[in-house]
Amino acid sequence: SLLLTGCSSLPSNNSTKKEEEIKLISDEKKPYIGFILDTLKDERWYKDKGLFEEEVKNLGGQVKTLAANGLDDVQVKQAELLIQEGVDVLVVVPHNADIASEIIDIAHQNKVKVISYDRLIKNSKVDYYISFDNVKVGELQVSELIKKKSKGNFAYIGGAESDNNAVLFRQGAMKVLQPLIDKGDIKLVYDHFTEDWNPNIAKENMKTALNKNNRIDAVIAANDGVAGGVIESLTSAGSAKKVPVSGQDAELEAIRRIVKGTQTMSVYKPINLLATKSAEMAMKIAKGEKIETDQKINNGEIDVPSILLEPISVTKENVRETVIKDGYLTEKEVFE
Ligand code: BGC
Repeated sequence: SLLLTGCSSLPSNNSTKKEEEIKLISDEKKPYIGFILDTLKDERWYKDKGLFEEEVKNLGGQVKTLAANGLDDVQVKQAELLIQEGVDVLVVVPHNADIASEIIDIAHQNKVKVISYDRLIKNSKVDYYISFDNVKVGELQVSELIKKKSKGNFAYIGGAESDNNAVLFRQGAMKVLQPLIDKGDIKLVYDHFTEDWNPNIAKENMKTALNKNNRIDAVIAANDGVAGGVIESLTSAGSAKKVPVSGQDAELEAIRRIVKGTQTMSVYKPINLLATKSAEMAMKIAKGEKIETDQKINNGEIDVPSILLEPISVTKENVRETVIKDGYLTEKEVFE
């Protein structure tokens, strides 16, 4: 069923009934953290799930992860379910930045605090926000592309507009792009968000962009999934490798494309840091300990205590010193 998608069940299936009973009693004292994902479609979220669960367990807590397959009502129901199960803290990757504010209301009615994970929950009294500097992600994307093409027709193929991050990525991109547009060097000939970050929709959008314009010189693709769709359309049009394309997430397929030359760059966000810091924060909240944050970010309703981590640009030149050095991907899988 949808509700159980991506769920790691507790207690473990192979214990006997008696062991299970004992485990349940002893687990009652352990802080219980609920992790709610929008989707497991993009490769990165598996890493988030694995690393987050591992760190909660390392710190002596218990954890359950649920993924909503991009459905807002399912995401709200999953939050309710975990609250009924008695979670101490909810860690949420919202599918829709505004609709997810319902989760905050329900959680707070039940005295459960909520951490907004990677994506900001807007217009709500969300307790904490932890993510990467998402404006910087957009800046890095354009900065790398203009090293290859500093003039001409550019296309922006974005993420899901319902995801606050997609809005921030575009803001960051425009910060670098706008002065060049004003100077007349660059023309933004196509500018579209991509529903649900769906690579097939990105592919169609890119096709439309190519049909409308006889020349596209560079494409700002908001993440690696989108870049994959974009590059398929460029390949069909015979212009892959000639047109610089950005990305984000340092997905294996994207890093392979970077090595091959069909994609120019990706943005590596060390998920390990995000997942472990969030798990630590959740455990501290569960135990009533003090939380340290670096800054406040306004979500339309309040200034949310926040932590923003640094994203890193990955190109052909620094693949080894970044993602491979960190063990995010292995040398073998990238170059085989
Ligand atoms: C995340 C990206 C991810 C995208 C699609 C964004 O909110 O920050 O890392 O590629 O969602 O899942």
